[in-house]
Amino acid sequence: MLCTVGIQDQVPKWMYNRQGGGWLTAEYSMLPNAGNPRKPRDGRTGRPVDGRTLEIQRLIGRALRCAVDLKQLPEVTMWVDCDVLQADGGTRTTSINGAIVALYDALLYMEEQKRLPKWPMRGLVSAISVGLKDDAPLVDLDYHEDSAAEADLNVICSSDGKLIEVQGAAEKAPFTVERFHEMVAAGQRSCESVDKLQRQALGI
Ligand code: UDP
Repeated sequence: MLCTVGIQDQVPKWMYNRQGGGWLTAEYSMLPNAGNPRKPRDGRTGRPVDGRTLEIQRLIGRALRCAVDLKQLPEVTMWVDCDVLQADGGTRTTSINGAIVALYDALLYMEEQKRLPKWPMRGLVSAISVGLKDDAPLVDLDYHEDSAAEADLNVICSSDGKLIEVQGAAEKAPFTVERFHEMVAAGQRSCESVDKLQRQALGI
């Protein structure tokens, strides 16, 4: 994944009459040969953006907005771009994991420029995919594991281990709420490990 953050000195139109603050939004895209078979570039097939892309970028945006107090931003839009260079399952969770590091970096830059009245980040965000294989949770699925999973969740957590979003469904047959709880718990444990790696990357 390539995760970058760009700062635009403007907020969306629907925010014009609000009292200060900024906005954060995300875009996600896969390079044509990130997966196999080749995926046509967005906008080249008659439909501007496919449903999967829309769903993923909204998930990324929601997760990141949870980590930032938007009221503490100046009147800017933070554009988070997540581009898949090579796909092997879990690209939406990896997007979130990389994007929050890029966002922290971008905010540090804004702080250096004295553009932040107050540090706006509430904490980091980490995410992991969790599948059900042979009726047991399996985390961080690669493409083959993902395709064979009996159920598939994406667990997104804040640094303090609380849930931000759980996205998921049964793939082949319905599964029990007990398994669901086990999968969420496995996801939370993995998110804790991801959080440590993110802190290591940021030196915090
Ligand atoms: N995939 C692909 N091309 C596509 C959609 C998916 O190659 O157009 C592969 C890719 O490896 C991806 C995996 O299928 O990581 C699982 O896709 P899914 O929609 O479950 O999202 P992800 O797990 O990447 O968040």
